[in-house]
Amino acid sequence: MIYLDHAATSPVRPEVLQAMWPHLTGEFGNPSSHHALGDAASRALADARSRLAGWFGARPSEVTFTSGGTEGINLAIKGIALGQPRGRHIVTTPIEHEATLESINFLRRVHGFDVSLVPVDADGRVDLDSLAGLLRDDTTLVSVMAANNEIGTLQETAAIGALAHAAGTVMHVDAVQAAGWLDVSLDALGADAVSISGHKLGAPKGVGALAARSRLVLEPLLHGGGQERGRRSGTENVAAAVGLALAAELSEAGREEASERVTMLRDDLIARIEAALPSARLTGSREHRLPSIASFLFAGTSGEGVLLGLEERGVVSSSGSACAAGSDEPSPVLLALGVDPLDAQTAVRFSLSPATTAADVEAAAAATTEAVKALTHLR
Ligand code: PLP
Repeated sequence: MIYLDHAATSPVRPEVLQAMWPHLTGEFGNPSSHHALGDAASRALADARSRLAGWFGARPSEVTFTSGGTEGINLAIKGIALGQPRGRHIVTTPIEHEATLESINFLRRVHGFDVSLVPVDADGRVDLDSLAGLLRDDTTLVSVMAANNEIGTLQETAAIGALAHAAGTVMHVDAVQAAGWLDVSLDALGADAVSISGHKLGAPKGVGALAARSRLVLEPLLHGGGQERGRRSGTENVAAAVGLALAAELSEAGREEASERVTMLRDDLIARIEAALPSARLTGSREHRLPSIASFLFAGTSGEGVLLGLEERGVVSSSGSACAAGSDEPSPVLLALGVDPLDAQTAVRFSLSPATTAADVEAAAAATTEAVKALTHLR
């Protein structure tokens, strides 16, 4: 099987699993316990936190372990909006992950926040002039994703952050897809808060982190024993934190080489599909694109049909977003780009990993060509 759905999830790296194992077995202590086992767990957690802080260019006290990208995003958005009452206005984009859009929707519904969506162009890039025009004295937060999970388009987060800061507000970046490919330090992204997820990086599902500057007041989502400096109560998942820290270090060590190599593989996949299928249309920006994502519309097919055809030929990919997969609704991301709703149903996303090979790409392009031709000939 050729697995090209790494934007949905990736396997746990063997080294990560190995590093986690002792913390699930012999060294199983609760970091809050006052005995030797507890102290060992507390030290392991502190070590994982400081290594992750290095990755984020943050202080250890600015890193909160979470249950994944969704929780980090919820904590950043609701936490900042409710903890820093500069006003009740939030700015985001129409192509964010549901974790962002639904957190903001909650603030609108329950707390009366006003929400502005910055328009994106046909490539999915935020229009900076429009953004500047939307920022207000009562804007409490700007939240944008560094890289889109369906189309791979990258945002100019540093420029967006500069506009937010000039307007006196703060910016959160959803770096779940960007992590492992781009520098996700707070400074490089120009952000005050950044959330990431373990299972896109070779750590397990169910762990992630939010780096948020300590000057930000975050209203917690989870109340209880006051762990994570009161930002997230609950006994810490020490093994997962250790795994996440190692996964971040491993991906950082290989990041530049992997980004260069996978960009070439991605471009090869695009070139092969475009050469074989002239009606295939690449979605997202050609230039400002995550190394790992190539997404297409295959006119005259259904995305689900192409995916089935691919799976029959040993290639696993997705229609774009794991949440939207299987639903009949066209992707809101593609609609925001101006794609026709019927065309949006023909979307297929290939997402690569550092382990993807040239042979995988060649086979995936051939399988795609066959699957699309089989469907279009039927019509
Ligand atoms: N943000 C983006 C851009 C994503 O792609 C995802 C997951 O696919 C998430 C957030 C949610 O992360 P998690 O699955 O860890 O909750």
